[in-house]
This record gives sequence, structure tokens and C-alpha cells, in this order.
Amino acid sequence: MKIGLFFGSFNPIHIGHLIIGNYMATQTDLDRVWFVVSPQNPLKPKKTLARDHDRLHLVRLAIADNSKLKASDVEFGLSQPSYTIDTLAFLKEKYPEHQFVLIMGADNLGSLHLWKNYAQILAEYELYVYKRPSFEPGELASHPRVKIFEAPPLDISATYIRDCIKAGKSVRYLLPEPVWEYLESGTLYR
Ligand code: ATP
Repeated sequence: MKIGLFFGSFNPIHIGHLIIGNYMATQTDLDRVWFVVSPQNPLKPKKTLARDHDRLHLVRLAIADNSKLKASDVEFGLSQPSYTIDTLAFLKEKYPEHQFVLIMGADNLGSLHLWKNYAQILAEYELYVYKRPSFEPGELASHPRVKIFEAPPLDISATYIRDCIKAGKSVRYLLPEPVWEYLESGTLYR
């Protein structure tokens, strides 16, 4: 299968992430999209980053029974901080039957040249890039391995959602219903 990998901290996963995942899984040649939850970097304790398993749980709640999408905790078992190139090498070896593609926003493509072994990533993997309002994809947009897609943009971020929760404001409809219910009834991000 051709699988798109969508990396993130998903702190928490929100509708913006799901729109991209669903678009890539249904409107491109990808068979599946895996949401790869990046672990908490132990060297950089971040007060606002929920624990790995809480974030993974929220991704699972969000995906529910959508068979085109999957939550992946593959990076939890790899050395940290996790570099995409290392995760890709691990997945390639573990799943030789699959072809992996990287999914990223145009904002990330602009800073790809700062990633560890970015040239190797481009040499070995296709990049499916979705446009984001007010971000220029930059020079790499014309790279033969890069494909640009027009997924419907939604300009929200996990930071905005965490800030709202902390301030006691409603985040209903910005999160999939089960994620919203889970956060409503718990203490996460408060
Ligand atoms: P934070 O506000 O905590 O930085 P985030 O909402 O940007 O979080 P990440 O977990 O960093 O979420 O996102 C994973 C990936 O999804 C990143 O590549 C990020 O650029 C992208 N992304 C985040 N929000 C959106 C959105 N609204 N639409 C499309 N892509 C998004």
C-alpha cells in the first residue's frame, strides 16, 4: 500500500489535522494516512505538552472507525529526539511491503532544508505538500519529488485550542466530537 505519514505533536489533534488526513487519504493516490504522534522530547520538557499516551489516545478517539486513517506510536520506541529520516528508515525496514510518502504543509516545506539529512529524504521519498494560507512553499515546490495539493485550509492550531481551554472558552466543533467530550470531562490542558 501507499501510505502517507503525517507527523505531529497532536497536542491535541484538531479538525485542521483531520481535514488534511482525510483529503490525502481520499483525494490522492494514497491508500492510507498514518498520524505519527511525536513523543515528548525528554530534553525539552514543555509544560503544555500532554503526555505521549494522552495525545495518542486523542488521535485514536479522533480517527475512530475510519479505516483509511491510523494512529501510529512508532516514534515512542525510537531514540529521541526523533528525526524523521530515522523514523522513515525504521518504517521502511519494518514494512517492506508498503511505500511511504511524507505529508506536510507548505510552511514545513519552507524549512525542510534545516532537517537532518533532508536531501536524503527528498532522494528517497515523495513529499505531498498542502498549501497553507500565507505560506509560500519556496524553491523546493518545484522539486520532482514534491507534489503540491489544494486541500481546504482551516486556520486553527493546537496552541489556539489549548489557550481557549485554559481560558475556559468553548472549543466545540474545532475538535472531533469524541475528543471534545474527552477534554470537556477531564483536566487535560486546564
Ligand atoms: P501547535 O499549535 O501546538 O504548534 P499544531 O496545531 O500546529 O500545534 P502539530 O501537531 O504541530 O499541530 O501539527 C502537525 C502537523 O499539522 C504540522 O505539520 C502542522 O504544520 C500541521 N497543521 C497544524 N495545524 C494545521 C491546520 N489547521 N491545517 C493544516 N495543517 C496543520
